[in-house]
Amino acid sequence: MLALPPRRAQTRSVFPFAPQPDFEPSGLASIEDRLHGACPVCGVDSDFDRFTSNLRESGFCSSCGSFNRQRQMAHVLRTSSGLLAHGKLALANGTVVYNTETTGAMHQALCGSDNYLCSEYFGDQFESGQLVDGRRHEDLQQLSFADSSIDIVLSSDVLEHMPEPYKAHSEIFRVLRRGGRHIFTVPFNSHLPLDDVRAEIVDGSIRYRGEKLYHGDPVRPEEGILVWTIFGLEMFVRLARIGFELKAWNLYEPGEGIVGSHSLVFEARKPEIQPDT
Ligand SMILES: [Zn+2]
Repeated sequence: MLALPPRRAQTRSVFPFAPQPDFEPSGLASIEDRLHGACPVCGVDSDFDRFTSNLRESGFCSSCGSFNRQRQMAHVLRTSSGLLAHGKLALANGTVVYNTETTGAMHQALCGSDNYLCSEYFGDQFESGQLVDGRRHEDLQQLSFADSSIDIVLSSDVLEHMPEPYKAHSEIFRVLRRGGRHIFTVPFNSHLPLDDVRAEIVDGSIRYRGEKLYHGDPVRPEEGILVWTIFGLEMFVRLARIGFELKAWNLYEPGEGIVGSHSLVFEARKPEIQPDT
């Protein structure tokens, strides 16, 4: 077992985010080192091992297979919903959750719940709400859900993969009930005042700025998926203009298998009372 520094406060509201204790693999006694504790995804006492240099995407739960970033999402979902780390991820009766993926440990933990919705993006030839091989297709920039119909939206490293991420945020705002929340992760650089737009649509075709970036894609593993935006502080301003109250969680919870110098999860809340406009 690793000797880990004591826990720190989780949520920071100053910029740039102070790095959490270092946990780079080069600092480990051995790459085989593991953590142990309650997995916030499955709620079971588990080992977290097989960390790699890509900390966010590794360190797999011996019970459910979740990796670090999925546990970060689950930690914020549980904590903001008043749930402890142990036990099934069971939200209050009637809570409508919309997950923007149909695979993975978080989907497995939630998919038995009533009022659970999930989708993938299969391409612009489909209409939002359409079933594709039994799975729902949704374009976050044009959702098929009714206004004020959802309590919690989950998206983890999704918003960077579309040309108009703030159109997607506006759509999520529209479908959330008052008091509802969008819990999400995106690639975020707190030293950037403005978003780093890597690609954009100009006159109907994609124009790239600098080198093309791709991330792995569970729906199209052989292709990867284009990164359009690395987000900066501009994201806070744009979300506030949409009407969200935005909170950033800078997590460090080794007892839940959550480590890394910048484990950032964002929680955008649609206020209970809309200000007059
Ligand atoms: Zn687990």
